[in-house]
Parts: sequence; C-alpha cells; structure tokens
Amino acid sequence: KRNEIYMKGLVIKSTGSWYQVLAENGNTYESRIQGKFRIKDIKSTNPLAVGDNVEILVEPEQSTAVITKLYPRKNYIIRRSVNLSKSVQIIATNLDQAFLVVTLASPMTSLGFIDRFLVTAEAYDVPAKIIFNKLDLFSDEGLEILDQFESIYTKLGYPCFRVSALEGTHIDQLKAELTNKKTLITGHSGVGKSTLINRLIPDAGLRTGNISSWSEKGKHTTTFAEMIPLPMGGYLIDTPGIQELGVVDIEKNELSHFFPEFRDRLNQCRYHNCKHINEPGCSIIEALNNGDIEPSRYQSYLSIYHGNETRN
Ligand code: GDP
Repeated sequence: KRNEIYMKGLVIKSTGSWYQVLAENGNTYESRIQGKFRIKDIKSTNPLAVGDNVEILVEPEQSTAVITKLYPRKNYIIRRSVNLSKSVQIIATNLDQAFLVVTLASPMTSLGFIDRFLVTAEAYDVPAKIIFNKLDLFSDEGLEILDQFESIYTKLGYPCFRVSALEGTHIDQLKAELTNKKTLITGHSGVGKSTLINRLIPDAGLRTGNISSWSEKGKHTTTFAEMIPLPMGGYLIDTPGIQELGVVDIEKNELSHFFPEFRDRLNQCRYHNCKHINEPGCSIIEALNNGDIEPSRYQSYLSIYHGNETRN
C-alpha cells in the first residue's frame, strides 16, 4: 500500500484497546495497536498510556490508524490493577511534573497522604509540587499552619502554591507553572480539583463534563487518564477516580532514598543495612532527634515502611 504514511504522535486518551493519537500533522486518529505489541520493562495490563510518544501508520483519508512503535519513555506513573492485584496499570507517561491538590480545611489532607504522593513521585522520577487550595477559608490561625506545612515541603525542594480555585486567587502563578509542560494533577475528592481545572481551562464547564463522561465509560473499560490541552500550551493530565497514587512496588530497603532529606545522610549510618527504625548509630534517627528531620516526615517513613495505609 504505497499511499500509507508513518507519522509520529502523542497518545492523548486511552481505553485499553483504542488510543486517541494526536499526530504531528495536527490530526487526531483513533488508533489500535498492531499485532502483539509487548513492552518489556513493565508488566502492566495496559501496554500504552497517555503521554506515550508513538509512531502510527495512516492510510490516506482515514481517521483511524495503527500504532506501530513506542518511543522510549522518560518516566511513568503506575498503580496497582483493581482486579489483578499483582499487575499494574500505567496511568500516564513522559510527565514533566505532578501536582497534588490538598486542603487544610474541609476536608483536611493529612501530611501522611502528602508524603505518600511525594514518595511515589520520587520513585518514578517525576518532579512533584503541591497546591494548597481553598485559601479563602483560612483564618489567621489557619494561615500559620499553612506556613508551617509549606515550610516543611519547600525546605525539601518541593515547590508549594497557595490558591483559591473558588475566588481565582493566584491562578496566574499556577498557569505560568503549567505552560508548555505535561502535568499530572491529582488529589483526594473534595479538595477542589475540578473547580481548579475549570479555572485553568476556559471552556472547562464543557471540559469537566467530558472528563466525567469519559471516566463513566472508564468504569466499563479501563480508562484512567486523559490529557487536556492547555490554552497556554502544554497538557493537564487528570486522573478521574484515582484518589491516591499508591506506592507500588517500592522495596523496603529503597524507601529511604525517596525521602530527599534522608538521602544525603544514609551513608553515615553505622550499619550499611540500617532500616532507620531502632538501630544504634542511625544517622536518620540522630537527625530526627536534632530537629533536622521533621517528625511528620519520619512518621510517614515508618508508616509506609510498615505498609500502613493513609487514606486522606
Ligand atoms: P474535587 O472533588 O476535588 O474535584 O472537588 P470540587 O472541585 O468538586 O470541589 C469540592 C467542593 O469544594 C465544592 O463545593 C467546591 O465549590 C469547593 N471548593 C473548591 N475550591 C474551593 C476554594 O478555593 N474555596 C472554597 N471555599 N471552596 C472551594
């Protein structure tokens, strides 16, 4: 078939069997994977996810295409499969950053929840940032707590933003941060993620409608994420129905590496296989006792280490 052409494209939606690919010519193609298409590095239930750069084969005048190649990924975010506990699903790939939307009131996001997100982002090599929403609800006392929480995370190198999605406060700052980037956005229900997405994308009323109808479909297929083009360039990757990016497949002995403030101290422990729980000569516990490591962070380490779930 000499009229067929190969093009590069970006996967912007996925159901598990069909993929919407935005091709370099600006057209979108409903695409399928050709034959047996196996990805060797991850054992996932879905071979491709939003964010993937692919090659497609298009026939002239057609709006469908065949995916013929996957280009290497710079990173990916996965979660445990709902049905098959041992396998994982890829949520999105090639992310420039991941934002967690949190609130300190109605509902209160726990520091444990924030830390689990940050550990996940560290493990998958995605720069993480935190959005404190509902700024309009804060009393003076609330603002003091906000200062404290922000300082814990900014000291560790995680940028923090404070916004009111409802009133539109500091939204421009966030827009600048999103420009020309592929950003995953997540947060537990009630934090105002939908309200924020509506703020960031002008035709959002329509958009969020699309997202939820798409995620409704997702219940029957396996849709977990959609890339929404941003008016200022870049994409927002919403994860409807995903409350938490779980810590998947992190070995206990690797966990300390995903706490930036632990990382530099690890080789100062007396024992090279120190678990940082109760060993003598542990540099982490020493730093904790000196006030150089936040108690809440250490608590999160223990909690994840022992496999305790933090739900909100
Ligand atoms: P989602 O579950 O994270 O998508 O949260 P929604 O966007 O549906 O918001 C949950 C509730 O919080 C709604 O009643 C919103 O109006 C409210 N909300 C969202 N953002 C803000 C905000 O900045 N300030 C206040 N006061 N309420 C907000």
